[in-house]
Amino acid sequence: MGLFDFFSKEKKETLDKGLEKTKTNIFDKISRVIVGKSKVDEEVLDELEEILISSDVGVETTVKIIRRIEARVERDKYTNVQELDQILREEVAELLSENNSHDIKASGIPYSYETEHLPKPYVLLVVGVNGVGKTTTIGKLAHQFHKRGKKVVLGAADTFRAAAVDQLKLWGERVGVPVIEHGMNTDPSAVAFDTVKKGMEMGADIIIIDTAGRLHTKVNLMNELGKIKRVVQKFLPEAPHEVMLVLDGSTGQNAVIQAREFTKVTEINSLTITKLDGTAKGGVVIGISDEFKIPVKYIGVGEKMDDLQVFNKMEFVDSLFKK
Ligand code: GDP
Ligand code: MG
Repeated sequence: MGLFDFFSKEKKETLDKGLEKTKTNIFDKISRVIVGKSKVDEEVLDELEEILISSDVGVETTVKIIRRIEARVERDKYTNVQELDQILREEVAELLSENNSHDIKASGIPYSYETEHLPKPYVLLVVGVNGVGKTTTIGKLAHQFHKRGKKVVLGAADTFRAAAVDQLKLWGERVGVPVIEHGMNTDPSAVAFDTVKKGMEMGADIIIIDTAGRLHTKVNLMNELGKIKRVVQKFLPEAPHEVMLVLDGSTGQNAVIQAREFTKVTEINSLTITKLDGTAKGGVVIGISDEFKIPVKYIGVGEKMDDLQVFNKMEFVDSLFKK
């Protein structure tokens, strides 16, 4: 039995499928590099460096990975190219296990979708730029919590686009959870306030608030998120318990830039990286896990209700680098 056998077959299949493009891209390139070669040498490592960077792992993290492999190759004197994928997998796993962010279970931030040990109600504020998948992630989360018998309330505080409110309402209907909304062009913090109020009245376990993410006006965004927080705190001083930043993995390094920008604007407690299906840039998750101390909590691997997974570094590395 291997180290990774503990995670469910179903979850693994969805993850494997979701990461297929990134994986194929990496392995196709690796196999081209090692063709006709027998040992891992400098040239192979140079090519590997390029492959990782082209998969959006990020330059700094790639350099760390290559250094590790170099050291290992030197130690072992002779390394067969056939072992390259295994070495890569092991070294990336080691690197991620050494860095500062822990997987959710160990981080003190609530693990998975289980809410037994959470304060009640637990208020989750979801932030991120337009189109990254905030509303979809909220819908998927609502489904996961609801499925486990939790009372969920959603708040439509992205009031800048008509479609945003409707989209959340649609998710609410699909999942079977109430959505608090005041329509378009209304005050987001008033929506947030009413959502928390309603959540408390109905004894909700979890309250999730959708927001608009207009990053081009940094000061506005900061003010707006600050106002939402203050208004919610009037009602529930310890809220929000978590601010989650959603990033679109298919934008590669752009997602990294957004993470840097958002962490300057507001305190972020967790990350969700979406759209890993259908992109060859899935390596970005490795770079983000390495660079940020904030844990990646969930990953989106499709548009459907069940296409959200609790992120686990080792499962991810195993899925990505195992042929
Ligand atoms: P928002 O503006 O941040 O709220 O983003 P939306 O939730 O509206 O999502 C924008 C688009 O991305 C929609 O078409 C979603 O269906 C799609 N989307 C969100 N998450 C995923 C994902 O994990 N995989 C794929 N393939 N599409 C996703
Ligand atoms: Mg939205």
